[in-house]
Formats: sequence, C-alpha cells, structure tokens
Amino acid sequence: MTTHLDTLTSRSPADPSDVLVRIPAPGAFAAVDAVDRARAAQPDWQAGGAATRSAALTAVADDVEAAAGELAALAVREVGKPLTEARAEVARTAAIWRYYAQAPYEPTGEVHEVAAGAGLLLSRRRPHGVAGLITPWNFPFAIPSWKAAPALAVGNAVVLKPAPEATACAQRLAEIVQRALPAGVFTVVPGGAVEGNAIVSAADVISFTGSTAVGQAVARAATGRGVPVQAEMGGLNAAIVLPDADIGQAAGHIAAAIAGYAGQKCTATSRVIAVGAALDPLREALAEALRAVPVGDPADAATVCGPLISEHARGQVLDALHGLRALVGGTVPHGPGWYAAPTLVEGAPAGHRLLREEVFGPIAALLPADDLAHAVRIANSVPYGLVTSVHTAGLNTALSGLDRLDTGMIRINAPSSGVDFHLPFGGTKASSHGPREQGRAALEFYTAGRTYTLSPAGEM
Ligand code: NAD
Repeated sequence: MTTHLDTLTSRSPADPSDVLVRIPAPGAFAAVDAVDRARAAQPDWQAGGAATRSAALTAVADDVEAAAGELAALAVREVGKPLTEARAEVARTAAIWRYYAQAPYEPTGEVHEVAAGAGLLLSRRRPHGVAGLITPWNFPFAIPSWKAAPALAVGNAVVLKPAPEATACAQRLAEIVQRALPAGVFTVVPGGAVEGNAIVSAADVISFTGSTAVGQAVARAATGRGVPVQAEMGGLNAAIVLPDADIGQAAGHIAAAIAGYAGQKCTATSRVIAVGAALDPLREALAEALRAVPVGDPADAATVCGPLISEHARGQVLDALHGLRALVGGTVPHGPGWYAAPTLVEGAPAGHRLLREEVFGPIAALLPADDLAHAVRIANSVPYGLVTSVHTAGLNTALSGLDRLDTGMIRINAPSSGVDFHLPFGGTKASSHGPREQGRAALEFYTAGRTYTLSPAGEM
C-alpha cells in the first residue's frame, strides 16, 4: 500500500494479485480545493432546514440497505473483512444513518432568564462549516458514516479522506451519499498522508480515527490552528477473568475478541489477565477456543479470522512473537493471502513489546494476577486506555473493579470488541484525544455554542 507516492493502489489482502484501485494520488491542492468547494456548498445545506437534512440521511440509510449485499462483498474483497462481519458492518452503517436522520429535529439550544430586567438569553449550537474526516481501513463503511452522518445532520459539509487501503469502499459509499445530497456537501478525497495533512490544514473541524502516532500529530496540527479536533486511536485492551466466571463463556468471548477479523479492531483483546484459580482452566479453554476459530477465505460466511491487511501487518505479528513460545498458533498458513493463525502466548516478560504496543493482529498474551486489584493494576499499566472486558458471575466484583479501571469503555461478560453507535465511544491516555464520538456527543462535537442576548427595543 502506498501513501506518499503518486499512485494509490488498493489490493485484496486475501489475494494480493487482485487490484481494486490504481489511481493517481490527487495531491494536497485537490484536497484543499475540495474543502473550499464544501465551504461554498455548506450555507445552503444548513439553511435548507431540518426536514431536508433528515430526508437526505434517511435516503442514504435506504440506499445502503438496498446495496447491502454488494457493499459487504466489497469490504470482503478490499479489506479482507470476513463476510459475516462485513454484513453486520453494513447493517450497522444503515442504522447509523437512520439514527442520525432524527438528529436535525433535536433541540439545538436553551432559553434562560436574564439576570435583571426584560429580555431573553438564548444558547444555540451551530455547525462549524466543513468537517474534515480522516478514517482508517478497518471499518470502511461504519467509521466514515458515524462521523459524516452527525456532521451532516447538524448542517456541516463533509470532506472525507479515507485510508488508501479502503479507497474502493469509500468511493462506493460516496456514490450513495452524494445521490442524496446537494453537490459539494459530501466529497471523498482519496489519498494518504499528503491529502490528510492538507485537510487538517484547511477544514473547520477535524475528526480522525487511526493509529496513535498519526492521531497525535493530527491533534497537534488542528489544535495549532485553533480548530476543534477529536482523535480516536489505538488500544492494548485487556480481558480480566475472575475465578467465579463461566470459563467456557469467557473463553468464547475472548477468542472472538482476539481473532475476529484477525484482531484488526481498536477494541480487540490483546492481553488476557487470569485471576488466581482462573488461570489453569482458562488457559485450557482459551487455547481450545482459539484452535477452533475458523481461519480462511473472508468470502466464506463461516470464516472468523481472515487475512491481515498487508504483508507488513503480518510481519508485525511474527515480530511480536520474538523470544516467546506460542501456546497456540504462531504460524503462517500457506496460501496467497496475508494470513496468520490466532495466537496465544504465555510468559511474556514485563516490558515485552506485546505488553507495550498495539500489534493489530490475532495475538494475545496470557498473564496471571493474584487478585482483582492486581489484575486492575496490570490492565491499567499500559499507555492506552480504550476498553476492558471483565468476566465474572459476581455483579459486586464487577462493580468494584469498574471504578478503578482507567479505560473509556468497560464491558462485563462480553467481548472487548463491539460498539453501540448511540452511546459515547472513546478512551483515555493514548487511545483518544478530545470529545467523544457517536450518540449525542457527536452532535455537540460538530457544533459550536453561541449565546444570544435579546433585549427589548427602545429601552436602555
Ligand atoms: P493510520 O494511522 O495509518 O491511518 C489512518 C488515516 O490517517 C488514514 O486515512 C491515513 O491515510 C491517514 N494519515 C496517515 N498519515 C497522515 C498524516 N500525516 N496526516 C493526516 N492523515 C494521515 O491507521 P490505519 O492503519 O488506517 O488504522 C489502524 C489503526 O486505527 C489502529 O491503530 C487502530 O487501533 C486504529 N483504530 C482506532 C479506532 C478507534 O475508534 N479508537 C477504530 C478503528 C481503528
């Protein structure tokens, strides 16, 4: 995959000889031009009214649903997402547009009493102008949609810079969205760092999802310009398993969170912390569950773990194994795609790369803990803070752990992976910067507050 070169190429990770896109990179000038055109189109979109915006977003939802099979097949082919997950992502994408189609009718402000005398004080939220969206490849329809739909609902225009690996998915989404919107209100600028940078330098509000290194640079650049920015970044998520847990259920959830979509989710589990007597049965059950994960062609509806996005990404998984013995996996299946077997390691020493950095593959480390407090300390001991899953039969235990975990999301008796689009989504530390995404939080992020004072005419 090329990000800085003149040509953008997107190829299927299951069969790298299958090239989906090979186009000239548009360059920084084209990206800034798209922002300018969006800025020209935005006032009419905002002024068009709630009913117009609501109808347009509903039309996008309808068209995503109508094209669901084709869109899922495209995600399978371009980013190697297993078919069952790809179908679920497309269904979620339609639901996201439908959910935000109601947002134009939401109240946009409040009325307050003046402190003294006659008049009214109003607070009202208004769109920023042009939302610049920079997205990763791993949720090629859902992430652009959960940024674009709320931005558009409240009256912004949007310029989306998708990951180069997901160019075909973004272009197809653009066809659907553009059919429902006036010209210039939603534009996709394909490209890599050059085009992403240009958008960060020109848009009025920036929403980024991707790796921590890039996200922090984007946040610094946007903050330097004084424009609002949110960055959702990497994770190094833990699953904590208590001795009273249903070990079979926990192992199933954790195996899915390690190996589903080859671990290429910010919410994947990469550290499994077994408390006390949970260690032995969990080791056995998790090893068995991981061995049973169907690995293979993402076009097969039974596949859970497909290929990694690139040869480089697979190399990262193998590098992370350095000096460790795999309890399960650690191998690279034969074939043309960039596959790696679901892998579990034990005995990683403190400071090992697996315990410090996001690998973004189907690999996790099993770690022992003396008690819940120790498990929480281990879970919190990394630079990231996105999500933790806790597996226990005891609600009291779960609740006592909740307050001490420092991640933005905590999931009890559920896989760490999984997102509810109508609730705030985000983490702490190196996982997130700025306000939360999704739900009502998104409507606030894509607007700025104004305070109006209305005094009676002719009075001093
Ligand atoms: P990436 O950081 O390589 O790229 C993300 C986007 O940024 C792409 O569109 C890329 O072209 C663009 N980009 C690259 N350099 C840039 C620059 N200098 N200026 C502006 N834009 C630039 O990430 P990726 O490989 O596409 O995605 C995987 C990462 O995304 C993982 O770290 C994963 O954890 C993270 N992720 C996070 C979430 C979340 O919500 N927290 C969700 C999904 C993925």
